[in-house]
Amino acid sequence: MSSKKQHQEYLRKYAEVVVKVGLNLRAGQRLIITNAAARGVPPAARPFVHEIAKAAYAAGARFVDVIWGDEELLRIRLQNAPADSFSEYPKWHVSGIMDMIKNGDALLSIYANDPDVYAGLDPERIGAMQKSHLENWQEISINVTRNAINWCVVAAAAPAWAAKLFPDLKTKEGEEKLWQAIFETTRATEPDPVAAWGEHVRDLRKRADYLQAKNFTALQYKSQNTDFTLGLPRGHKWISAQSLAENGILFTSNMPTEEVFTLPDRQRADGVVHSTFPLSYGGSLIEDFQVTFENGRIVKVSAKKNEAILQKLVDTDEGSHRLGEAALVPISSPIARRGHLFYNTLFDENASCHIAIGRAYRFTLTGGEELTDEEFNAAGGNTSLAHVDFMIGSPQMDIDGIREDGTPEPVMRAGEWTFDV
Ligand code: ZN
Ligand code: ZN
Repeated sequence: MSSKKQHQEYLRKYAEVVVKVGLNLRAGQRLIITNAAARGVPPAARPFVHEIAKAAYAAGARFVDVIWGDEELLRIRLQNAPADSFSEYPKWHVSGIMDMIKNGDALLSIYANDPDVYAGLDPERIGAMQKSHLENWQEISINVTRNAINWCVVAAAAPAWAAKLFPDLKTKEGEEKLWQAIFETTRATEPDPVAAWGEHVRDLRKRADYLQAKNFTALQYKSQNTDFTLGLPRGHKWISAQSLAENGILFTSNMPTEEVFTLPDRQRADGVVHSTFPLSYGGSLIEDFQVTFENGRIVKVSAKKNEAILQKLVDTDEGSHRLGEAALVPISSPIARRGHLFYNTLFDENASCHIAIGRAYRFTLTGGEELTDEEFNAAGGNTSLAHVDFMIGSPQMDIDGIREDGTPEPVMRAGEWTFDV
């Protein structure tokens, strides 16, 4: 097969596995495709969107629609729009997506973003635009974090993103190399990607079941620059790849996914964590940073690069001073083993243990979907406009689970699981 034909074949298989396993799209559903960070799907993803649409109609979709976005336009806005104008927002995107959600339809996000598209721009303006996005997007976030419908986040290669990963390659070569990485990590290169995902989902579930049976009260993280204890509330649930949506559909919300994750207690986080990967947040790269916690609350942040952006994220609201997710990923994960950064959380979070600043997923607490915000918070859950994962795992990281009697039990040593399942 020519390399062009091979690419097209992988693209087709990738789209098929996203529709069949990621969304598990049902006949009669409508599908809306977007990308929150770029206010729509970047044009570089067009050929992939076309394959998604074909696979979706083959699965019986009634209607496939796309919100297209353009990061360059947002950059132009940040540089040229009046300082007091950043509360403006395309609210019709939100009402269009909410129309789909209320009808029980499916939502796909495709990332193809430049990780530091806003490099060098005014952090005040970036912060104001991001804040308005989080406020306007909240209605969608709430529905997504309670799994109201089947949703999925995936990526497509794009020139600026590829250039960040492979600065020494020519644009076309870099892009093809990034596509190859996406195809391999999403198992699109397997002879039967759908079957390969079935096996992968089962393996992750066994890992989550093991941790669930332990019923730890806390996790203790230690490495050369991290000394951190994170409480786990009563009723915390360990989740892996698959979830059941309120519309009755079993779906896989991230492709790739290598994590098992649970709910941390918003009141119990103490110590210092050091980031082990740069964080691409809302178009800026935050690098080499440290976060200090007391009684669950972030009391200090520092960063070698873009500290102001990190501080703005933490200052979003009260909940963004606290944590909403604790995820474990071994250093042997296929994404970690690739040995390069992706500068994109969808990939980098699957190469490293991570925690998330902000909103917790309702489904990580037993019965969490039925609680009011106040009840959820009282049970240890966290509410916020923000949910941002950052990576703290490394080959030096040791993690213990704390049993109900207070004794520690090794969970990870030198970044690797201590147990088989
Ligand atoms: Zn995660
Ligand atoms: Zn997360």
